[in-house]
Amino acid sequence: MEKTQIPLIDQYNRHLNYLRISITDRCNLQCIYCMPQGGLPKLRHEDILTYEEILRLARIATRLGVRKIRLTGGDPFLRKGVFDFIPRLTALSGLEDVSITTNGIYLKGNLERLKSYGIKRLNVSLDTLQREKYQRITGYDGFAAVWEGIELATKLGFDPVKINVVVIKGLNEDEILDFARLSLRYPFHVRFIEYMAIGVTDPDVPLCHIPSSVIKDQLEDHGELVPIPKSAYGGPAERFKFDGAPGEIGIISPVTNHFCHRCNRLRLTASGYLRPCLLSDREEDLRGPLRNGASDSDLAAIFLAAASKKPHEHHAASEQSIAFSGQMSSIGG
Ligand code: SAM
Ligand code: SF4
Repeated sequence: MEKTQIPLIDQYNRHLNYLRISITDRCNLQCIYCMPQGGLPKLRHEDILTYEEILRLARIATRLGVRKIRLTGGDPFLRKGVFDFIPRLTALSGLEDVSITTNGIYLKGNLERLKSYGIKRLNVSLDTLQREKYQRITGYDGFAAVWEGIELATKLGFDPVKINVVVIKGLNEDEILDFARLSLRYPFHVRFIEYMAIGVTDPDVPLCHIPSSVIKDQLEDHGELVPIPKSAYGGPAERFKFDGAPGEIGIISPVTNHFCHRCNRLRLTASGYLRPCLLSDREEDLRGPLRNGASDSDLAAIFLAAASKKPHEHHAASEQSIAFSGQMSSIGG
């Protein structure tokens, strides 16, 4: 294949330079907003892309202009062999940034090697600062492990360490300020994310998002929010800082103020489908062609086809529950 091809630019002139790869649907937690009670059916081992297959697709994607890859899951650290795979991924030419999103349970003991493999940026999901509530949300008594991982990552110089907080009515809205105040003591980037009502149907756990405007009002009651300009690959968050704080605060509003017009993402699911929009079930099969002898050019054409089908925007704000037949853990959030 030619080294340089047509970059992934969609019909709305968005440059799709960011690929999120879910390397496994397996997870050691069962967050109430992500997994239904009793868990989800697991993908069969043979239906999950091998590391070789992921590397081949990542190489093709970088030739098409992808510059940033995020590994996600499930939890990426649950997949066997991940620490052999990561340095092979970070070594791909053309990639400027490889980052990881994790629940943080297995972070602490692996930070040194992640650093040596060239990982600089980490997103850790943490929805409460209270040990018991953590167990209620995730089904596991893991708050201390996650917190220790976050602190050590900061000490070791990972920058930024982002803390992803999904804000849910009646569950953790009372902790918005506690999380925001962390940015006064630590260089964390605290990211408040609107809960998306996708796929979790347990009637005993009715969940509801808090609109980002309400989150922002609460933060402004604490002090003036100084806006931070967007950076290249800066992501969808509206970013702020409290005056003099070493850390920052971001608000991500996929529901009430979607960022579709500047969305630069494609998602590769654990089972090898390319998904141009998280909230649309439109997907392109890469695994089938990959295993049936497709050339790099054939696979590149599938990337371009997926880009051409990226919807202009989703309509999550106008829907009670978002139409979504995939699984967050297989798609990677
Ligand atoms: N297991 C890893 C973790 O939790 O960070 C990575 C996968 S997880 C699916 C990726 C992100 O999706 C997490 O930050 C999680 O909080 C977010 N997420 C999952 N379900 C969500 C929902 N219903 N609404 C908003 N965010 C959600
Ligand atoms: Fe929680 Fe992430 Fe696991 Fe979903 S994939 S249950 S958000 S830890």
